[in-house]
Formats: sequence, structure tokens, C-alpha cells
Amino acid sequence: MTMTTTTTSAESSEDLTRFLVERRERILDAVRAACARVGREATEIELVCVSKGEPAEVVAAALEAGWTIFAENRVPELVRKKAELEALGVALPPFDMIGNLQTNKLKALAGQVRMVQSVSSLHLARALSGRAEQAGVVQRALLEVNVSGEATKQGFSQDELLEAAEELAALPALSIEGLMTMAPARDPEAARETFRAARALMKSLEMGSSLTLSELSAGMSDDFEIAIEEGSTMVRLGRVALSRNYEPFTTR
Ligand SMILES: *Cc1c(COP(=O)(O)O)cnc(C)c1O
Repeated sequence: MTMTTTTTSAESSEDLTRFLVERRERILDAVRAACARVGREATEIELVCVSKGEPAEVVAAALEAGWTIFAENRVPELVRKKAELEALGVALPPFDMIGNLQTNKLKALAGQVRMVQSVSSLHLARALSGRAEQAGVVQRALLEVNVSGEATKQGFSQDELLEAAEELAALPALSIEGLMTMAPARDPEAARETFRAARALMKSLEMGSSLTLSELSAGMSDDFEIAIEEGSTMVRLGRVALSRNYEPFTTR
């Protein structure tokens, strides 16, 4: 499915905000229900609103609707949207980076986001730490893992990560706080297996290295309830949060 913009020229910003508030309420209900099923507290789950492909006006409305943390998947779009929000007079919310990274974009990224969730190789981790050092910051980061083994997905394999763990832990300007993963689409059982495997990998890394990992960023529009049941601490919600073309809670 493609991300389509929520705004139409005919829609007032009040209508948009009302729609976003209703969606957010339904999402919060679903988060609470998933937590209740497995004896967790909803306060353990951080909700990140994925605003990629959406204009700055939608981010402004989503802020009014109660979203507090946003995520983008491309550095140029992130930089542009932050400038557009400032031009709208909106106090900038924290943003995370969740997309594939190229080393030539890291200079514009280091220190500009709350968290880089998509550190998908040792090469990138070294380069990002270097850029953060130059910027005089310690960049919070998650390691993207590909535990499902899908060739189309970025990320460390289990073996790569176990092997790189000590060097990653020693990078001076990266604060590595957990793992991020994506599950195969439209396959709830495979999604559950993926989230379980990511959780297990986090445990073995914690035991077998000096990394201290507390965050598991797992779960998107189609599978966030499963991810919460399997131990996610951070869900990344795009279409379910922002798109009228996404019919939520029908694919479960
Ligand atoms: C787009 C994207 C999301 C959000 O996807 P939805 O299915 O729209 O919720 C989450 N994580 C990453 C890495 C993404 O690229």
C-alpha cells in the first residue's frame, strides 16, 4: 500500500485534527487491550508517529491531536519538513530516523534527530559515530536487525550482530539503546515469530556483550498489537495514525 496524504484542499484543519484525534483514541484503545492481554502497562509503550510522505501541515495537526514523537525515512525530507514546521511557527517535536541510510547523508543527520533507529551495519555505525563526534553530540541509536532473513530488508543478521557487538558498544559517540526490526508484511504468524526472534536476540546480546539494551522498536500499522504482545517497547505508526485510506483494525 502507498502512503497517501490525509489533507485535501476541501478539508479544514479542524476536520483533520478531529480525524487524527479519533484515530489516536482507537490506537490507544488497541495498545491498552494488547497490553492487558499480556500483563503489560500501556506506559511501557512509546508511540512514534511516522510522518514520511505527509506534509508539514499534517505533522502540525498530529501534534495538536496528541502525537509527540515523529519519524521520517529520508534525510532530505526530514530537513525540509523541520524547516517547514518552523516556518509555520510550530515548536519542533523530536524526530527519529527510520529509513535506509547512506554515509553521505549522515552529516545532516547526526545530532538532528532524537534517535537513529536504522543503524543497519557496522560501517554505518562507525560513520554515524564519527559524524556525531564532529558535531559534538552523543547520538542515541537503535540497531536495525533482519531476523526474518528477507533479502529485501536492511539490517544486521543475528550472526553479524553478535560478532560486531563489542565494537558497536565501544563507539564513542553512539548511545546504542536497543534494536529495531520490521516483520514480513501481511503474515501475522511470521510477524509474531520475527518479533520473538528480535526479543531473543536482544537477550543474547545483553548476556554476551557489554551492550545495555532496553528498547525494542517493533510494530507498524498492520502488526503493532502483535509486537506489543511480544515485548515491543516502541511502535512506529504511519498509515493507521494519519491516513484516511487505511482502514484500521480490519487486517487482524
Ligand atoms: C513506513 C514505515 C513505518 C510505518 O509504516 P505503516 O505501515 O504505515 O505504519 C514504520 N517503520 C518503518 C521503518 C517505515 O519505513
